[in-house]
Amino acid sequence: MSRKGKIHSIETFSTVDGPGIRLVVFLQGCFLECIYCHNPDSWNFKAGKEKTALEVFEKIKEYETYIKNGGITISGGEPFLQPEFCLELLSLCKKEKIHTAIETAASTPVEVSKEVINNLNLLILDLKTAEKNAAKKICKIDIKNPVETLKYCEKIKKDVWVRHVLLSGFTLKKEKLNKTAEFLKEFSCIKRVELLPFHKMGEFKWQELKIPYSLKEVKPPTDEEINTAIEIFKNHKVNVVV
Ligand code: SF4
Repeated sequence: MSRKGKIHSIETFSTVDGPGIRLVVFLQGCFLECIYCHNPDSWNFKAGKEKTALEVFEKIKEYETYIKNGGITISGGEPFLQPEFCLELLSLCKKEKIHTAIETAASTPVEVSKEVINNLNLLILDLKTAEKNAAKKICKIDIKNPVETLKYCEKIKKDVWVRHVLLSGFTLKKEKLNKTAEFLKEFSCIKRVELLPFHKMGEFKWQELKIPYSLKEVKPPTDEEINTAIEIFKNHKVNVVV
């Protein structure tokens, strides 16, 4: 029997969630509560629609022509909280030679996500911070599991793209950016680092859901700040994009 997953939504033509044109399956459920999350409606584990991996795969097949030079990306929410569903969907895609990626905060121990990682083409890791003590100011996990996940990808030579939000007062400080770049440059599995300037496009969702939004007064980074961040990563020989 095909494994059921909790689905938030499916986006059919994304160009920002991995290489090429991609179909993105957003899974429902996340406990991290990142302060800048633009999808807080994906947190609630009781919401979303239940679909089997086979049902989602049927949908993917409808778009096969469009994604032939791209692939599919499973995003969230936190996909690693539904490992069996992900694994079945990845296996179905693998048989059809469809390129697969998962975008995750890697909040679970590697023992939980190992099989999933083994069976995908690209891991897109949302790295909140590389600093031990800073993570909990941004979300509800520390950096242990994301770091272990990166180490595992290095060991099995799994391609990784890292995404890192530039947030004033948190990650957007020269000293912190230097530490992050210093840390990431050690991993040859990391093929690129995407720096994502903080934006407030999801703020209205926090209001709708009546969740207090702590970043009301925080401004998006200026062009100058973004360029400085890029330079810092370049100086560490990290392949960086914005
Ligand atoms: S991990 Fe992603 S979905 Fe979960 S709270 Fe953070 S930004 Fe939102």
